[in-house]
Amino acid sequence: MKNTVKDVVVLGGGTAGWISAALLKKVLGKAINLTLIESEDIGTVGVGEATIPPIQVMNNLLGFSEAEFLKKTKATIKLGINFENWYEEGHAYFHSFGIPGKDSLVCQFHHYLKKSRALGNDTNLSDYDLNYLCAMQGKFAKINSKDPLQTLPYAYHFDATLYAAFLRELCEQNGVTRIEGKVDNVVKGEEQNTVKSVQLANGKVISGDLFIDCTGFKGMLIEETLNTGYDDWSHYLPCDSAVAMPSARGETIPPYTRSIAHEAGWRWQIPLQHRNGNGVVYCSQFMDGQKAEDILQQAVGVNALAEPKHIKFTTGQRKRSWHGNVVAVGLSSGFLEPLESTSIHMIQSAILRLVQVFPHEGISDAAINEYNQKTRIEAEQIRDFLMLHYVVHSPNKQGEFWQAMREISLPERLAHKIEIFKAGGLVFKEQDDLFNQNSWIQVMLGQGIEPKDYHPVVNSIPDAQLLSMIQGIHTLKHQVLAQLPSHDKFISSVC
Ligand SMILES: Cc1cc2nc3c(=O)[nH]c(=O)nc-3n(C[C@H](O)[C@H](O)[C@H](O)COP(=O)(O)OP(=O)(O)OC[C@H]3O[C@@H](n4cnc5c(N)ncnc54)[C@H](O)[C@@H]3O)c2cc1C
Repeated sequence: MKNTVKDVVVLGGGTAGWISAALLKKVLGKAINLTLIESEDIGTVGVGEATIPPIQVMNNLLGFSEAEFLKKTKATIKLGINFENWYEEGHAYFHSFGIPGKDSLVCQFHHYLKKSRALGNDTNLSDYDLNYLCAMQGKFAKINSKDPLQTLPYAYHFDATLYAAFLRELCEQNGVTRIEGKVDNVVKGEEQNTVKSVQLANGKVISGDLFIDCTGFKGMLIEETLNTGYDDWSHYLPCDSAVAMPSARGETIPPYTRSIAHEAGWRWQIPLQHRNGNGVVYCSQFMDGQKAEDILQQAVGVNALAEPKHIKFTTGQRKRSWHGNVVAVGLSSGFLEPLESTSIHMIQSAILRLVQVFPHEGISDAAINEYNQKTRIEAEQIRDFLMLHYVVHSPNKQGEFWQAMREISLPERLAHKIEIFKAGGLVFKEQDDLFNQNSWIQVMLGQGIEPKDYHPVVNSIPDAQLLSMIQGIHTLKHQVLAQLPSHDKFISSVC
């Protein structure tokens, strides 16, 4: 496509639409004219409240202060996710954004811990993780330390509707034109696989050189207009439904997300300043909507603040997220269940990827292919990490759903990762993998994959010295913990 790309149209004003508009306008400035169209009548999916640490990179890039963000979006701190009943009933493990213990140049801390356990130390990996310790005691402060033993990496929980409104304000200040209205007709371009313009119900026509499709699951441009196709990954991640409902929050605000397994999926609890977000994710082959709603009602009790909202989805990925002059971002590009809160991050990384290859004097196939390949790899790596939570668990975990999950055939890369960890506790980070070794280790161990061996470098340290080193790390982490204020205090001091 030879045309200069000047007029960019974002269709959709959910989290994806407003993040796309804010980032594109911030980075490309006057190089583009940006119009966003949204329909209040159609509304947004209305969920998506937990994030991962790279959101700080985006917020910094957009140029607002953390205090302003926390206030305006009623956000709280997230130090990780507590996975309850996943391995078996009554068991819990924490996937932390921090680093448990201290890794050496050759291998991670869990190798040292494994040997120390054989020597009588009966602690767990989480006991050496400041994020976990703070989460369980409801503590938080921003720590400015270069010492890896004293860091406290974090993300946020926030109200997604308030976040979109906050970004809208920013966008309008930066010159984004917002149009309210429902698009009911799409005019295709002369060149194959292109969109020329969209037409609103009131007859207004908006033309563009590049369209960002943020219309949610339906993908009005990428799918309904260009018929791009979708790779269904339900055979890997079969949960296909959710029911969500906000509730009054408790007296204190825990700085972590809860993920609680149930008989055919799991339930989330996300604490915000003014309420909790709650929901049940389930597989409709093993549970009906009424049962899922009952699980949610039972958990929320009299604290419910609204009627339950049911959502259907198909896990998978658009065959090409960028097709012709349409780039699908957000739910229109694909969906992976919110088990590790990755969707908002995928919006951010999609736009940053797009900016890197942004077409100026025309859209090239090379740029499209590069973008699509990277998008696909990112989604596959996240999919594999999510699958890890389901595929290995205690044989005591009963029920048809969990039995079916045990029988799922794994993607080759994931099967290899599990095998190499089982043998010697090894984990290697693949290029661009969103999750680092510590994430894989925590979930592997949490799901009950116990390595047969530890790295031989551990044997180079005499037993007494090893135990003393481990005890030293334990003591130091607890000393830091003791000095930190409560998360509630942190939030109230900022907000
Ligand atoms: C159950 C569930 C839980 C989730 N939890 C998390 C989480 O904890 N963390 C996380 O990162 N992500 C989460 N997500 C994902 C997250 O909600 C989405 O990635 C995010 O909200 C982006 O949605 P969206 O903007 O793509 O789509 P939507 O919110 O559906 O927005 C679509 C937009 O398109 C507009 N539109 C559609 N059709 C038209 C039309 N014809 N004319 C004009 N406008 C139109 C609508 O008005 C709306 O503004 C969750 C998703 C689900 C389903």
